[in-house]
Amino acid sequence: MTGISTNLIHSADKLSRVSDVIPPINVTTTFKYNEDYNKLVTAKDSPKDGIIGNHIYSRLSHPNSETVEKLLESILDGNVVVYNSGLAAFFAALTYFNPKTIAIGRGYHGCHGIADLFTRIKGLKQIALEDDFSVLEKGDLVCLETPVNPDGKVFDIQHYAAKAHEKGAFLLVDSTFAPPPLQHPFEWGADIIMHSATKYLGGHSDLLAGCLVTKDINVKNQLVEDRIYLATNIGNLESYLLIRSLRTYELRLLQQSKNADEIVKFLVSNKHKYPHLAKVYHGSLQSEDYVKRQLPNGGSPVLSIDVDSEEYAKRLPSKLKYFHHATSLGGVESLIEWRALSDPTVHPTLLRISVGIENIEDLKSDLDQAFSSDI
Ligand SMILES: *Cc1c(COP(=O)(O)O)cnc(C)c1O
Repeated sequence: MTGISTNLIHSADKLSRVSDVIPPINVTTTFKYNEDYNKLVTAKDSPKDGIIGNHIYSRLSHPNSETVEKLLESILDGNVVVYNSGLAAFFAALTYFNPKTIAIGRGYHGCHGIADLFTRIKGLKQIALEDDFSVLEKGDLVCLETPVNPDGKVFDIQHYAAKAHEKGAFLLVDSTFAPPPLQHPFEWGADIIMHSATKYLGGHSDLLAGCLVTKDINVKNQLVEDRIYLATNIGNLESYLLIRSLRTYELRLLQQSKNADEIVKFLVSNKHKYPHLAKVYHGSLQSEDYVKRQLPNGGSPVLSIDVDSEEYAKRLPSKLKYFHHATSLGGVESLIEWRALSDPTVHPTLLRISVGIENIEDLKSDLDQAFSSDI
């Protein structure tokens, strides 16, 4: 088995149509048909998987989106369909499964927004992950985000897979907070995996993208077909940026995971010095056996903290030098966010931290001076 970085640098080499080491950005929206009229196949007669690798119009596919899918397939354990955002991927999953009821846990507020859209347009019923699953029927969907937004708590995928499958329902895992090699949801029974590639896969806070991963090639073919009409294929420029980003993905992610782990340890062990720091949340602070089993190579680079007042939560970001006060996560630069600014569902004393790749000693001393200063 070749390693992640080797795969992300080389697994799409054969797709290249030119001798450029860096794949060019193909700005075209339309592609010439075969010059040999004997090779022309009508839309009616083309095979179901005919879209893949056969570029006609860039809403369907283009060379850069195909390269992105090939690269992601080399590390995500299945067939990949790429989208122009993480939420477009979630919308596509709900469209494909078309459940009557979904069980959905805490997590990214945008996924709840999409579930609410489906409730509005087609009466989708929603239950919580903690609810009794006896109302679920064959073909329904369980949506599990783990580690979860914003506090990084880890949920047991195997447990929810068993509960979903008992009712004939499917399990979707949003694995955005812990992409490989941190977490491999198919190993624990997930039926479909979703990532916001805007986060760690992109890693530079300069592109929006998302993907679904499926074990079944027929599911991929249907998702690719659906994507034509949802009109949510990734753009050319974003594909290029994502290809560029994936070359260094493993280095970045592992460094971010390691830095986050050190910051959690640092905050927990120095908490007595910082009277305003009330609580630190991160998967590494959980004691359940499944946490280590599910995340054997390190935890999510996202953590959250609770401080002792809303006012302090509002002011703390302005005291930090190396943590930009901004939403999102996954980029090489560290971010902190007074979460109440973008998520209406969280407690106003919560701050979310996305750890970047900066020198760990610099990050620790920055946190130390901020917590030690008068605010
Ligand atoms: C950001 C995020 C999304 C949405 O992805 P976009 O690329 O912003 O559309 C979905 N799930 C999780 C866990 C996220 O962090």
